[in-house]
Amino acid sequence: MNILIMGPPGAGKGTQASRIASFCGIPHISTGDMFRAEIKQASELGKKIKSYLDTGKLVPDEVTVEVIRKSLQQADTQKGFLLDGFPRTIPQAEALDGILKEMGRSLDLVINIKVDPQVLLERMTGRRVCQKCGATYHVVNQPPRIEGVCDLCGGELYQRSDDTVETVSNRLDVYQKQTAPLLEYYQQRGIVAEVNGEQSIDDVFKEIEQVIRRIAR
Ligand code: ADP
Ligand code: ADP
Ligand code: ZN
Repeated sequence: MNILIMGPPGAGKGTQASRIASFCGIPHISTGDMFRAEIKQASELGKKIKSYLDTGKLVPDEVTVEVIRKSLQQADTQKGFLLDGFPRTIPQAEALDGILKEMGRSLDLVINIKVDPQVLLERMTGRRVCQKCGATYHVVNQPPRIEGVCDLCGGELYQRSDDTVETVSNRLDVYQKQTAPLLEYYQQRGIVAEVNGEQSIDDVFKEIEQVIRRIAR
């Protein structure tokens, strides 16, 4: 199944995406994760995009689309794929349609996680991420067993540099202006499933699982 997970920053896309990817046995393709990896390695691309992530602006479409094109061509997409954080603009969505067409594929399902802006702020400022494996935690909602240490790999947890109050409000604005209009783009195709993101992580996943089972039948 070819799935896209959408929702405002902090809605729980990454958290749910890891679960969906293992449930469906498909690769989780996250532009945010790929961009952070490039910045960490201080690659040419990493240097070019750092200022966009730091200020919560979108990386230019041309750059982002090339990263996704490579990733979709390299990943093992036999059983499908799960896109997280891409597309974020209408031109990106159009480019994705073109890439998928070349591959003889199309999107089967868009999962939209809905969460109130007030809740998003608290989710993002409390988010902690593992340096080593990228697993996501929350200081209150999903704390690790030992403070500051990843349950899965023992890696050190850090706070993303864009998860500060100022940058977060920028990112929410960018989402409203540039990404929210995408929902209508996909709604016209009748492939959007809305999920209530203001439940426990397990309950959100249960709702998503039901949607996936319904589509897979
Ligand atoms: P996104 O990828 O959409 O930005 P994340 O999956 O990184 O969001 O989640 C943002 C933060 O909220 C993380 O700290 C995560 O632990 C926490 N979180 C995710 N889902 C829930 C939920 N259903 N209830 C409470 N906290 C959540
Ligand atoms: P969130 O979990 O808050 O939704 P991501 O990890 O998906 O955030 O993205 C972090 C940052 O990476 C964005 O604020 C943006 O600067 C950049 N980014 C990620 N995906 C895209 C994209 N599809 N287009 C442009 N910029 C992107
Ligand atoms: Zn880890």
